[in-house]
Formats: sequence, C-alpha cells, structure tokens
Amino acid sequence: MWYSFVDVEIHLENIVKNFLFLQKSCSSLVPVIKADAYGHGLIPVARALTHAGAKAFAVGSVEEGVALRLMPFEGDIISLLGPVEQRDFKLICEYNIIPFVYHFEQIENLGEIAKRQCPVALKFDTGMARLGFTEKDIPRIIDKLRFYSNLELKIVASHLALADSVENDFVLEQVKRFNNICQMLTQAGFKFKKSLANSAGILAWPETYYDFARPGIALYGGNPFWGTNWQEKGVSLRPAMKVRAPLVNVRSLSKGETISYGRTFRAPSDMKVGIVAVGYADNYSRSLSNKGWVVIKDKRCPIIGRVCMQMMAVDITGIQSIERGDMAYLLGGRNVSILPEELAEWWNTISYEVFCVLGQNNRIYV
Ligand SMILES: *Cc1c(COP(=O)(O)O)cnc(C)c1O
Repeated sequence: MWYSFVDVEIHLENIVKNFLFLQKSCSSLVPVIKADAYGHGLIPVARALTHAGAKAFAVGSVEEGVALRLMPFEGDIISLLGPVEQRDFKLICEYNIIPFVYHFEQIENLGEIAKRQCPVALKFDTGMARLGFTEKDIPRIIDKLRFYSNLELKIVASHLALADSVENDFVLEQVKRFNNICQMLTQAGFKFKKSLANSAGILAWPETYYDFARPGIALYGGNPFWGTNWQEKGVSLRPAMKVRAPLVNVRSLSKGETISYGRTFRAPSDMKVGIVAVGYADNYSRSLSNKGWVVIKDKRCPIIGRVCMQMMAVDITGIQSIERGDMAYLLGGRNVSILPEELAEWWNTISYEVFCVLGQNNRIYV
C-alpha cells in the first residue's frame, strides 16, 4: 500500500509443512483458503499447496472460487458461503464451483439455472446456529433433489462450534447429530462425501474426520489450543506470517516526560525510545497502546503510549546499537519471535483476526 511502510512476509514453505503435518493425522484434507487465505494470499497459497498435493480447496465467496479456477486450478472448489448474490448462481455453473447450500431458495435457483449436472454441498446446522438446514428439513430436501435431477448431492457438511475447547461434550453431540442427518440421506438412496472437522477437529477429535477435513488456521500456523492443556497438540505448527515496520526515529525521553497523544505514558526514569512506522491505518490496533510488544534486534520492546495512525513508540532503553532504519517485528521475528496467539491476546482477539487484518498490508513472498 502506497501510504504504508509495513511489510508482511509470507513463508509459504511453513504452510506446506503445516499441511503435511496435519495430513499425518487425517489423510484427506481440503485446505480452507477463504478471506484471501486468512490474509496470506489466495493464489500464492493455493499454488504452494497444489504443489504439496492438495487436490481441492474451500474458499469463502463464489468470486474467490472463480479467481482460483482462473489460476488455473482444475480440482474441486467448494464455496463455503455458497451463492449470496444473484450472479453467483451463473458463476457456480460456469466455473464449476461446488456451493454450500443452506436454504431452499438456493436449491431452487440453482435447479432452475443449471443447464447441466451441477454438484452441490448441503450445509447442516448441528450446533453453530448460523447457516444450515436442520434434520426436519430433510424430507423437503429429498423432494427438491429428486425434482431437480440436474443437481447432484456430492457433499454433506457441518461446522464445529467448540472443537478448540478441551474436554467438552458438545463436539460429540454435534457428531451424533451429524451422523443422524447423514444416515437419513443415505437411507433415501443418496451417496455423498461427509465433512465436519476444522483445524481443532483434526488436532484433537478423530471422531470428526469422516471423508475429508477442512483445516484453516492450523495451515497458517495458528495453534487453536494455545494456552490450554492441549497446547502440545499444535506446538509443531509454524506460523507463516511475519510483519515488520522500520524505526523512523530514535530519541531520549527524560524522567517525568510523557509521550504520544493523551499523555498516557510518563517516563519513570530516563529512557531511550524508538518510533516505529506502523499504526492503526495499517490495521495494527490502537488497543495495543501501552499493552503490546515488538521485537527489535532479537529483543522484546514494549509499546509505550498511544498507538497513532501511522506510528507508535517503543521502549528501547538499554538495548545497544539500535538505530533508525532497524526493523521492528510486530509478528514473528528472527531468533526471538512474537507468536500470533500472543499478539492476539494483547489485542483482545484471536490469531484468526490478527492474520486476516495484518495480511491486508503489502505482502512479500519469501
Ligand atoms: C473457516 C472454516 C473452516 C476452517 O476453520 P479453522 O478453525 O480455521 O480450521 C472450516 N469449515 C468452515 C465451514 C469454515 O467456515
């Protein structure tokens, strides 16, 4: 971005390593690359994973599916949001995208518009209460699918609500509901693939594997169990995103002086501070004011005072040889790193949001 000095390094080889690591537990994976691959870049991530053996992908919008098809990619493309706008129905047929469908109007529209066989994935609600048919819709679904013989039921899927929480009964409750749904459709004579697991499901709940799993966050190196007593299950995942910005000034701050807007930080003693060229305009949250840390020359430095629009101050007291032009790592680092989960905790959010929003800066593939 032309007004920003923030660079986002994407380490594609780590995404590949994470993919191969997850594959050891669950052999059939459909990588989730929605939202521009969680901020890592749809096409570069798809290319890297295709070389590593991925045969299918799940995207968010139909339009992301079209972009992937034009890569070109010839395998299955699943759109998790399915058709949202009217033109999505045409795109689904034209670019051979498998849509998640979760209300009857989608089935009817697609059935009316598809000139040839069109694969569909039925999304069921087993506990998220967001999107999805429920068990009581099944008789009507069966009628519709028999009526629209151009629609081919290929996948039945649902999504876990609590798989990243240790030792809970809800995952198995969702498995039970999902089994019932699949059984009813099988008894009606349909043949399809079943899919339930997300990253946390793959790492901890073999009951959720079925025909294929849909890993997202773990591919990018986020550990869904970080900070829990199941943390070990994800420790070998490697974050693929590093974010850095340059120091644009180094100066001293005398005891008793304040720094930045609102005068929220007062120097308890004489200090050395660095001014880093990153702020909330770069999607680095203002909520990190007086809370977050960066890494400069392998040393952790705390943010002092308010994060501004395009800069912020960090405490570099006592660190030798730091000068203007040195890089501050906001995420990742060289020998000393900031984990996505740490940054997320200071930010009062989750690693998913950290990746998605910081990834909107200028990306460099290394
Ligand atoms: C985002 C998403 C996933 C991936 O979830 P992670 O927790 O990132 O592994 C899987 N399935 C659906 C339907 C999703 O929307």
